[in-house]
Amino acid sequence: TADKPEILLVGTAKPVIVGGLDPIATVHRMIEAEDPESFLAAIAERVRGIAVAYTANRIDAAFMQRFPRLEIVASFGVGYDHVDAAWAGRNGIVVTNTPEVLDEEVADTALGLLLCTVRELPQAERHLRAGKWAETPYRLSRATLRDRTVGLVGMGRIGRAIARRLDAFRVPVVYHTRRPVADVPYRHYPSLVAMARDVDILLAIVPGGEATRHLIDAEVLAALGPDGILINMARGSVVDEAALIRALQARTILSAGLDVYATEPLVPAELIAMEHVVLFPHLGSGSVHTRARMDQLVVDNLASWFAGDGPKTPVPETPWRPGGGAV
Ligand code: NDP
Repeated sequence: TADKPEILLVGTAKPVIVGGLDPIATVHRMIEAEDPESFLAAIAERVRGIAVAYTANRIDAAFMQRFPRLEIVASFGVGYDHVDAAWAGRNGIVVTNTPEVLDEEVADTALGLLLCTVRELPQAERHLRAGKWAETPYRLSRATLRDRTVGLVGMGRIGRAIARRLDAFRVPVVYHTRRPVADVPYRHYPSLVAMARDVDILLAIVPGGEATRHLIDAEVLAALGPDGILINMARGSVVDEAALIRALQARTILSAGLDVYATEPLVPAELIAMEHVVLFPHLGSGSVHTRARMDQLVVDNLASWFAGDGPKTPVPETPWRPGGGAV
């Protein structure tokens, strides 16, 4: 109807998002457009909200500028480096993400990736499937969590959930962030290089974007040292991938477990060729259960906004103060 807000859906038409938005909005599905340019031109004047189905869908300033009445971009995922939230904030456009509902799932995946990498579990399973067990048992893993300290790069919502799991595993935790966190018992390192020198596992769980670009570079990897293991659960941009490949090839570090890559879904052939690294296809929050909760939060943000109740989970760059309305 005429009074329903018009929302552009960018990316896959997932059932929870479509089912949730259809009753409250007129939804335009970009993915179904034969000619995206004329499709967007026809609706641009009327679009007041954008729903973003995946973190792979880029929403930059030039894209948002096409919609003169745009009020809100509701993005899927807690990481929102695919949305130019700073530009949106400066231009009075609200951006929301989907924090908290995925914390435990991503922490589970992080521990899975850590264990797989340290104890070579995927390699051992491949050994069995290849029928090699009868010939020879899979070799003892060189690494173990038993003598290691984990240095978390990031101690936010997900970092804390990972640290809690490591507490239960009786693995000591330290962390690097820009500011120390008041209510955690772990040692804070203002310098990432200093932390990398002191630990033998780095686990990255920070946001992507310019501020963290290549935070983990050749110098950090060298400081981590020949027993070092890097686990990247954050974003591919956080690690200098070329430097990581060189460090793995030269055995500057022992191994790596990666969930994210610089140019997904392209994974460098050099990494694929390395038997001693563990590669996940961006699995972090990837269960039916958790993805549905994230999709629902995309819907809830748009529903709340268009009901006049403000965004539920605005990002820090957003021009919104709880109770105070737009600033
Ligand atoms: P939070 O915002 O709660 O925490 C972010 C943490 O990163 C804070 O401790 C922050 O501390 C630290 N940080 C931010 N910038 C820097 C910096 N430049 N240098 C050092 N530390 C920094 O985020 P979440 O825990 O909810 O999520 C973290 C990230 O994990 C997401 O942004 C996303 O990129 C990634 N993620 C990946 C998933 C996957 O599927 N692999 C799934 C979900 C999330 P401070 O500000 O003091 O520096």
